[in-house]
Amino acid sequence: MPGKVVILEPPAETLAVRLYLPLLAGMALTFRKFVANVLSRKARPTIEYPEERRDYSDRFRGRHILKAREDGTLKCVACYMCATACPADCIHIEAGEHPNLAYEKYPTVFEIDLLRCVMCGFCVDACPKDAIWMTKDYELSFFTRKDAVYGIPELTEKPSDTAPDGPGYGYRPYYGESPAKKAGQFEPSGLAILPMTLARNAAINRMPPPPPKPPAPAPAPAKPA
Ligand code: SF4
Ligand code: SF4
Repeated sequence: MPGKVVILEPPAETLAVRLYLPLLAGMALTFRKFVANVLSRKARPTIEYPEERRDYSDRFRGRHILKAREDGTLKCVACYMCATACPADCIHIEAGEHPNLAYEKYPTVFEIDLLRCVMCGFCVDACPKDAIWMTKDYELSFFTRKDAVYGIPELTEKPSDTAPDGPGYGYRPYYGESPAKKAGQFEPSGLAILPMTLARNAAINRMPPPPPKPPAPAPAPAKPA
């Protein structure tokens, strides 16, 4: 069945349309907004970035930082919990034996590919050592893909992160003083068991070396053809 054709007639041109009055009304509105914006900065919905910056929430999820203990070593014990929880699979960790036995493990490589990261904060939630936080730094731009992979030097927290003109802390496990510190606990918990670990290592070193392996049996003589 053929469709019904509806012919629409343009509205009749009024005198106001002929005199461009609707156009002038639109220009008057634009001019009113312009004057209001010039006279009152508060009325403006926009800001003059980068001179002006918005104050984001303390739960803002920006660039990550790796937190350090009081002795300057990274709190991270390379447990892979954050890498396991990461939905974007963008955390790469390689673990090494820490020279301080109390800490046992530490990351020899800790990389986050910020081009793959979706800033979900799951890594922060998953960390059992309070070792990875996020900042309010959202100015992440890179010229090459390689630049977007942040390693330990880029991720380690720096004084500029919390300087007055710095981004400040964002998403983190707690806001305010660490509950562990508040409770008077010694944060590097491994230190408490250090004497025991040292005694265990000394005992292992006192053990006699394993007996040498018996010589391999001589190969059977080849049968005559
Ligand atoms: S914020 Fe989310 S996506 Fe980014 S590294 Fe952490 S867990 Fe992965
Ligand atoms: S940052 Fe935390 S969760 Fe990730 S490897 Fe280090 S200690 Fe484990």
